[in-house]
Amino acid sequence: MMNVKEAFEKIEKRFHEAGVDSPAFEVSVLMEDLLNLPRNPEITVPENLLEPEEEEKLFAAAEKRAGGYPLQYIIGNWEFFGRKFFVGEGVLIPRPETELLCETVLKYFSRTMPPKIADLCSGSGCIAITLAKELGGAEVTAVELYDGAFEYLKRNNALHGNCVKTLQKDALEAFGKFDCIVSNPPYITGDEMKELQTEVTFEPETALFGGTDGLDFYRAIAKNWFEHLNEGGLIAFEIGDTQGEAVKEILTENGYKNAGIIKDYEGRDRVVSAVKYD
Ligand code: GLN
Repeated sequence: MMNVKEAFEKIEKRFHEAGVDSPAFEVSVLMEDLLNLPRNPEITVPENLLEPEEEEKLFAAAEKRAGGYPLQYIIGNWEFFGRKFFVGEGVLIPRPETELLCETVLKYFSRTMPPKIADLCSGSGCIAITLAKELGGAEVTAVELYDGAFEYLKRNNALHGNCVKTLQKDALEAFGKFDCIVSNPPYITGDEMKELQTEVTFEPETALFGGTDGLDFYRAIAKNWFEHLNEGGLIAFEIGDTQGEAVKEILTENGYKNAGIIKDYEGRDRVVSAVKYD
């Protein structure tokens, strides 16, 4: 039988050779999730012996991961803004940089009446649910078109007390009146789609590809939703790091004011927001 430390080191080495970004972290997450072990088990419980079926399960999952399959899909969930979200094939994995989009919205509405928010291309619902939880009283509608992602959106909403309204609908068809339009739409360009990191190729193309120049959704959302944003309301997008100026221009051309770019913690352009008023 193999003990925890031996298994850990063996998989860490395998991940390292396979080019996994943070091998030790990922082994720790796998062992924690699949075997119910504490975080950093090679330090906390190194001598624990693995049952043969545990070993088999762990190494099968590790092999899958070494082949480029996303860790998040293997364990079936991921954390975003301190909360757990179910994920799997068919839905985009929540990224840490998307927390900045949530923070932008939270900051804008922190002193106002609870807003009515539409989260377009909602996917797992991580943005919509975070905003509903963080802004007490906000009325959040999460719009998602695709069956696979919509299932995850509903599961995540149930996990978090059904705090948002879910709608299976094309986000480009505007409706209602809101104080905030927020979206992390598909924004990868045609050229970038050809060079995706292996892990990302397992994620739905419909959540990634934003047309040849990656800007299709910004153009359509900015135009179609203008009349559905209340005076004094905010529109906020996550963007690819080279798209800031172009998205600012799209917003300005469509009548929004004060368009500005916000950088993420790595110093890259990550969010563009603007407001609507006369
Ligand atoms: N941030 C994602 C990535 O780099 C893209 C998500 C999106 O297109 N909205 O893979």
